[in-house]
Amino acid sequence: MGYLDGFRITLKKLFEDRVTTQYPENKTPKPERLHGRHVLNRYEDGMEKCIGCELCAGVCPARCIYVRGADNDPADPTSPGERFGFIYEINYLRCIHCDLCVEACPTEAITETKLFEFSFTNREDAIYTKDELLVDDDGRPQHLPWEDWRPGEDEHTSAWVRATAPSGDADYIGRVGWSGELGYGVRAPEGGQRAEAEAAAEATAAAAAEAEADDHAGHGHDGHGGSH
Ligand code: SF4
Ligand code: SF4
Repeated sequence: MGYLDGFRITLKKLFEDRVTTQYPENKTPKPERLHGRHVLNRYEDGMEKCIGCELCAGVCPARCIYVRGADNDPADPTSPGERFGFIYEINYLRCIHCDLCVEACPTEAITETKLFEFSFTNREDAIYTKDELLVDDDGRPQHLPWEDWRPGEDEHTSAWVRATAPSGDADYIGRVGWSGELGYGVRAPEGGQRAEAEAAAEATAAAAAEAEADDHAGHGHDGHGGSH
């Protein structure tokens, strides 16, 4: 009757909690540090953050960014300062979502959302330009017809970049070195590994203190007993 064991396992699995997610109707929550589709951010006054410096294009290992800068019109500037990015393109057939462009950007202009569900029917459509990448007048990513956005996918955008390093100066832990963004203001850093490391260190210190207290109590008891 050993062959019935197989049916027993099948029947048992039928009544267990299902772990299958009915994608795309339902999506599982994405990790906080997932790198998805980029956005070009704006300052809280609506000015564009990109200054057309091309550092993102220079650092990109996939050579998929094309930027050209131009002088701002003093009477109607696009960005603070002298220059702005008048052409900005990312080729998503090449991008490997490494986020080196985000790290290289001196003005926090380019960041990544959590969206990766987008597809194309031709090569030209895979090249996003400023028309698609620039956030809207509310500071939110544009929701393009071929993209599947869900609530929260524009939150925590590259928040790990705003997080302070665990090995940095303790005076700066938890402080954000990042300018305000249209629609969001100054966003909080992501605790991430630093928060986990701190929680683990606190737990270790508490356990050590408890062990030391037990040790002292044990010695005190021995000493007391010895005097009789
Ligand atoms: S995420 Fe990486 S591959 Fe993609 S555009 Fe930025 S630097 Fe290039
Ligand atoms: S996105 Fe940043 S790094 Fe790239 S051109 Fe604009 S300001 Fe320079």
